Amino acid sequence: MALTIRTSASLRKMNLSRVFSTTARAPTFWSITKNQASVTFTWLFNKLGRLSLRRRQSKPPHDYVVPVGDPILRGQALAVDHRNIKTKETQEVLDQLVKVMRKKGAVGLSAPQIGVGLQIIVVENTKKQLELVPEELRQIREMQEFPLKIFINPKLKVTDYSTVVFPEGCESLPGYQANVPRYYGVNVTGLDREGMPVAWQVTGWPARILQHEVEHLRGDLYIDIMDSRTFIDCFWDRKK
Ligand SMILES: [Zn+2]
Repeated sequence: MALTIRTSASLRKMNLSRVFSTTARAPTFWSITKNQASVTFTWLFNKLGRLSLRRRQSKPPHDYVVPVGDPILRGQALAVDHRNIKTKETQEVLDQLVKVMRKKGAVGLSAPQIGVGLQIIVVENTKKQLELVPEELRQIREMQEFPLKIFINPKLKVTDYSTVVFPEGCESLPGYQANVPRYYGVNVTGLDREGMPVAWQVTGWPARILQHEVEHLRGDLYIDIMDSRTFIDCFWDRKK
């Protein structure tokens, strides 16, 4: 699940990268004629498109998050055979999942999101991530720091059916968010990377993260249950 609170620092970073990517090339484009510029731009656009396609064709587990539209996000993930947990292949999936989650600054990620149709989720909320969220919001949403947790074949049980509605986002729909109703408390059980049973009972924000990630394993996305009138581009006010 994406950390939905956009900080001014990350926004500044994004805007700067936009500025650099356009201004850095400006002398090349504008020192030649308009037609030449158009040809150059088309060539560059096609080249980048082919490069990105090549990247997207890498073998799973990917080092990127697959976007909505990829059929794997709508399929039912398969349970991991207990005997396969310690294999090199499964351990590689776990490592890649954690790596990509951290690279994206996300608080949770599911195996289908890196192209692997297995029932695996990872969640983590670091102090550094929490510090990006204003204290007041942290309290209202009951966000809390917790270390990396891996759940293989997770089973979720609702422990508190009260519904809480807050905005959330997803790395497979980057840059968007919407209000999503979630149960207040859940208990998750599963296996860790050694194949040992693990359980975690939580309320508040971590319960939301778990529900979001476990839904990915059933092919569900937050957009299926969101309040669609609250669906927004997080940067709508910066695109004028
Ligand atoms: Zn997601």
